[in-house]
Amino acid sequence: MTDSNFNLANKVAIDYVKFRHELTEFMRTHCPESLRNKVCSNQKIGRADYAEWQKILHQKGWSAPNWPISEGGTGWDLRQRYLFEEVSAELDCPPLYHHGLGHIGPVIMHFGTPEQKARFLPRILDGTEWWCQGYSEPGAGSDLASLRTSAVLEGDEYVINGQKIWTSHAHEADMMYTLVRTSTEGRKQAGITLLLVPVNSPGIEIKPIRTIDQWHHVNEVFLTNVRVPAFNRISEEGGGWACAKFLLDRERLSPAMVPRLLRQLQQVEELIKSKIKSAGASPSLQSAISRLLHAKASAMGAKEMLLSAITEEMSGTLRSSKSSALKLHCTELSQQISSLAYDLVAPQYAQRLIPQIPASDGSDDLDLERQLLHTYLFYRSRTIAGGTSEVQKNVIARDIFGV
Ligand SMILES: Cc1cc2nc3c(=O)[nH]c(=O)nc-3n(C[C@H](O)[C@H](O)[C@H](O)COP(=O)(O)OP(=O)(O)OC[C@H]3O[C@@H](n4cnc5c(N)ncnc54)[C@H](O)[C@@H]3O)c2cc1C
Repeated sequence: MTDSNFNLANKVAIDYVKFRHELTEFMRTHCPESLRNKVCSNQKIGRADYAEWQKILHQKGWSAPNWPISEGGTGWDLRQRYLFEEVSAELDCPPLYHHGLGHIGPVIMHFGTPEQKARFLPRILDGTEWWCQGYSEPGAGSDLASLRTSAVLEGDEYVINGQKIWTSHAHEADMMYTLVRTSTEGRKQAGITLLLVPVNSPGIEIKPIRTIDQWHHVNEVFLTNVRVPAFNRISEEGGGWACAKFLLDRERLSPAMVPRLLRQLQQVEELIKSKIKSAGASPSLQSAISRLLHAKASAMGAKEMLLSAITEEMSGTLRSSKSSALKLHCTELSQQISSLAYDLVAPQYAQRLIPQIPASDGSDDLDLERQLLHTYLFYRSRTIAGGTSEVQKNVIARDIFGV
């Protein structure tokens, strides 16, 4: 077990070693084997799986590692959150579903009224209400401020018309937090408002999009005269961009980024070892070992970078370029590792002549080759979702060179 390279000797207030031990003990004994097997074999995780684990963590008081104690969270610092993610990844526990707990929850805490907090936060915390993010639109992804979905206040209701796209898990969600245009005057950012929309509202139509791996998890969401109470507006009209930026600033550093990568590498290493044991070290396996070592070195670099970013974030000195560099590095590395894993089990497709794969709802029992093919294909989206690699490079260039 690693000590996560924190300077443990200097910590007086929190005993991180003891804390890590407590995490390990709980996760090992409380995360159901069926869930761990699913995560370990790279099967897709849906609402039922996330919810099962969240409920168990909630009973322990650990469902919201990033929330303050006053709102029912753990009050953990970023190092503790990193350890939580590290142990969780090592033991193949499912990740926490981020749209409620990680995204809209903290925004409601910061910008919401006491009534809004009372209405929405407890149900995010215990997982009874499930959220999706309705930001992107056709023509408004990287340039999000160009969004056109409109909302007009009529009496005490907003009437929404427009379309969202790439909405992850919309078909499983109860609520969608969405950015809408309430004004076309002035700067485009100034006319954006954040609304919380019940997904079962009349006028909402959800159409599935199958990604290249044939999984259905993203959707188009069409909104036609959807009526939402003005109570569901967070912050003032036109204040949506500030909410979106708050979220970006707060969540720009994800402590989960590296631990899952390290677990992915460990699995590939196990795969290589088992192949060597059964067939000896062929030239193609030697080349795989070399790729593995390069990836390991890159992952160790990423871990060092994340740990230093955590320390900087805790002292308020983290630069946005560092978290962008981490996102860029970790997502590209996860793609390289998934390519390596797939090449190991299906060398016949090394030229990327991918076989036809059937549609999947994510619950299929796949053999190893198909699991790794699905992962390889799905990970292509990693450098797009949550801000593309090019956009991360822009942030880095702006911060370092001022361009
Ligand atoms: C799997 C997946 C899940 C997603 N889930 C959600 C979700 O739940 N909710 C949600 O709202 N959105 C979601 N998205 C959408 C995601 O946020 C957008 O795809 C992303 O922001 C890019 O926007 P776009 O697809 O419109 O591409 P565009 O912004 O049109 O970009 C097209 C290409 O141009 C490049 N480009 C664009 N602008 C610049 C620039 N200024 N400089 C250099 N290059 C540039 C991009 O890097 C990209 O290569 C998801 C996407 C994926 C793939």
